Amino acid sequence: MRFLLGLILIVVLAAGGAYVVAGHSVAPSITISKPEKFVGASTPLEVVVSAPEARLSAMRIELEQNGKRFPLYAMGGETGKAEVRPEGADKLHITRDVGKAAVPELEAGSARIIVTASRPVLYGIRNVESIATRDVTVRLERPRVSVMSTHHYINLGGSEMIVYRATPADIESGVLVGDIEYPGYPAAGATVEGVKINDPSARIAFFALRYDQDVNTPIRLFARDEAGNSARADFDSRTFPKPFKKSRIALDDRFLERVVPAILDGTTEVRPEGDTLAKFLAINGDLRRRNGDKIASFAKQTAPEMLWRGAVFHPFTNTAVESAFADQRTYVYKGKDVDRQTHLGFDLASFAGTPIVAANRGKVLFADELGIYGNCVILDHGMGVQSLYAHLSSIGVKAGDMVQKEQELGKSGMTGMAGGDHLHYTMLVSGQMVNPVEWWDQHWIEDRVLRKLR
Ligand SMILES: [Zn+2]
Repeated sequence: MRFLLGLILIVVLAAGGAYVVAGHSVAPSITISKPEKFVGASTPLEVVVSAPEARLSAMRIELEQNGKRFPLYAMGGETGKAEVRPEGADKLHITRDVGKAAVPELEAGSARIIVTASRPVLYGIRNVESIATRDVTVRLERPRVSVMSTHHYINLGGSEMIVYRATPADIESGVLVGDIEYPGYPAAGATVEGVKINDPSARIAFFALRYDQDVNTPIRLFARDEAGNSARADFDSRTFPKPFKKSRIALDDRFLERVVPAILDGTTEVRPEGDTLAKFLAINGDLRRRNGDKIASFAKQTAPEMLWRGAVFHPFTNTAVESAFADQRTYVYKGKDVDRQTHLGFDLASFAGTPIVAANRGKVLFADELGIYGNCVILDHGMGVQSLYAHLSSIGVKAGDMVQKEQELGKSGMTGMAGGDHLHYTMLVSGQMVNPVEWWDQHWIEDRVLRKLR
């Protein structure tokens, strides 16, 4: 009898011990990846729950506001608009829409997302539970955008500027040209020719119609807040087609033998195989595209204010134009057409080693070797407007330097893919290469930029 009691005690203790130990087993882990801070009219919710083999005994997602809880998802119950999919062996990925559209009772103000998940342990006798919460702000005020400036004329491959209002003040906004976004920047504080802009909701956006976009591409203002609320507005704009020249470039072995090994020595981005022509084609295609992507990436580093003082960009008029913007080039080797590319800049030649000056006041973002562009300088003029100087024989500035209009940046040369000593010059608007000629024209600067700021 004593023995039996002892045995029962041991079994009970062991079971109790197992029960307690099981309670300390790893609970499911919950990650609320979206929303981060704001919930709006329609905001994506993204939750990842992981447990061994993704075995859960219960899972609930709720939105709590003013003491009320609104169910968003319940395992085993009506899933509503939630989508659940496995991610690997141990994870479940739950997505749905959370916002006014999904929860009509939702009001502006604070709210909390609560996720509860439990998994079975000890053969299902016990469950271990985890709870994760995310405090959010419900924002239901729709962003608004409205145009302030008038007469927006855009040439194919050219630039334009708009002044508009965006409210509330902390939203993202800009111009959408087809599917390309051009961010707007606060205009308040900007002083152009002695005129100071005070309206805190006023924005300035420089935008462009890419040389290869249709002239009928829709152009409109956009705004969106962090809660996912968005707005669009049309404004008066006219686009004009522009014929681009066609040119033929004869490639000879002397040129290929000079530029191909030099460019490949300076880059690790492409490693083409084959003869010199095959390597040239890889440089002219693949490396050109990669270099273009790198150049476009500098748009992110632009200053939010205009760094130039409203004066025309230095027009390099003492030089001969060898090639204009968006020339359609056919490359010919031994009588055969071997490649086609668009030349997105101006080629300007005077004499070898000409001092190359900053087109306007700005900040040096890049001053180094860059593939087909050879020794290259990129200047930021603020609000997405940038200028590029390529094929230099030497560079006299470094990234981070502020330069004044017409300050020397280096000397012209023939580094990179250059047939002879010349400056390859282009302007960029939010990473898109645009026709620089417009920026050289006092009349254009006056009409497109300065007039709208008054
Ligand atoms: Zn060029």
